[in-house]
Amino acid sequence: MTPRIPTAHRPVRRNLILAVAAAVLAVPLVTVPAEAAPAQPRTGFEISNGARWTSQPEEQSFLATVDRGSDRVSVDRIGTTKQGRPLQLVRIGNHRPSADTMLLICSQHGNEPSGREACLTTIRDLAYAQDRSTRAFLSRTNVLVVPTANPDGRAANTRGNSDGVDINRDHIALQTAEARAMAAVIRDRKPDVIYDLHEYGATPPYYDKDLFVLWPRNLNASDRVHGESQTLAEGYVRPTAKEAGYSSGLYGIWTDPVTGDPIKQTAGDGQERILRNTSGIKHAVGLLIESRVDALTDAEKADPALNSRRRVNSQLAALEGLFTFTDERRGRIEAATAASRAAGFKDRGPIYLGGADNESPQAGQVLQDPPCGYRLTKAQFDDIKDELALHGVTSRPDGGGAYVPLRQSARNLIPLLLDERATYHLTNGQADTTC
Ligand SMILES: [Zn+2]
Repeated sequence: MTPRIPTAHRPVRRNLILAVAAAVLAVPLVTVPAEAAPAQPRTGFEISNGARWTSQPEEQSFLATVDRGSDRVSVDRIGTTKQGRPLQLVRIGNHRPSADTMLLICSQHGNEPSGREACLTTIRDLAYAQDRSTRAFLSRTNVLVVPTANPDGRAANTRGNSDGVDINRDHIALQTAEARAMAAVIRDRKPDVIYDLHEYGATPPYYDKDLFVLWPRNLNASDRVHGESQTLAEGYVRPTAKEAGYSSGLYGIWTDPVTGDPIKQTAGDGQERILRNTSGIKHAVGLLIESRVDALTDAEKADPALNSRRRVNSQLAALEGLFTFTDERRGRIEAATAASRAAGFKDRGPIYLGGADNESPQAGQVLQDPPCGYRLTKAQFDDIKDELALHGVTSRPDGGGAYVPLRQSARNLIPLLLDERATYHLTNGQADTTC
């Protein structure tokens, strides 16, 4: 089932260009007194036409200019890295509680810079847009952006942070400042959609598309959230990228270069500590997107800037699909995420400690009749209470320790944190099966 974007409905920024063109044509004989349009900043990447990535001082100056120049933007510090760099959240929109919330997480891996560049120019373009369709979109959508999710890794051009920790394997343990900041944003802002921008290294001819995408495969994501995530990938992001001339496929799946049939899976499993999967467990429609780093054409091999521009432009094309998805399906997205947030209070259904949407869980990995809660000793609770709070898990005092009931919004997450059978559990809680 692959819904298509109606041809009459073009993505937001293309509407912007058309609206501006129409406005100009409508007043051919009048000299419009120029309202002093605020000067729009450009990134280092744009200024150099892709010859270099935007530096972090340039990013700070760029964001400060956007923050000053647009009354619909605010830039907040949400944490500090070990090396003292700011972790920042940019908010664009009217911040109405009723609006849908979209969260872009850009370049969690510091050596994958193109997502960050796409995020920075997207922030500016949304901040300064005056056309009706973009303003209408922003009146109904809170756009949140973490433009540099791993500032120390970006500074050093490394995948991990300054401790060498892969932030995108830390969304359960929450040991890094970076993952903790993101967890707090997810808890407090309750995004309906989380979009995670990465890059990958190609293995031609089996694995070399311009873009790869993947939804949450973890089985604890609700069916509707999982379904909307697949629709985002297959009905919007991939078709929009294709229309812009970019090839795409599913992250982690090698395909036969002649038939296109899948050959093997090398990545993209259901493990809960990857943001793509954590997003689904935390009720958000989620998508991972990966642009190809490698230059495969002679022209790109001869011109690194051309290679860099293709990487960033492919990310921008895919983002158009994300915006169209959010605009067209907001009712269904809201219904899916609201139902997922409420489902835990019914405290029904199995919880999965393994498996994925394309891999059956093994025997013993399914809690068919989960416990009604977990008891933690005082020492256990003291050790992980900050992480439970960041995950939005509630508990009540119990003897000297704490009792974590499953009957809450975070129900499907709790055994992943507290059951000794879960691969990435934080502590061994004592399962309460007396219910
Ligand atoms: Zn990555």
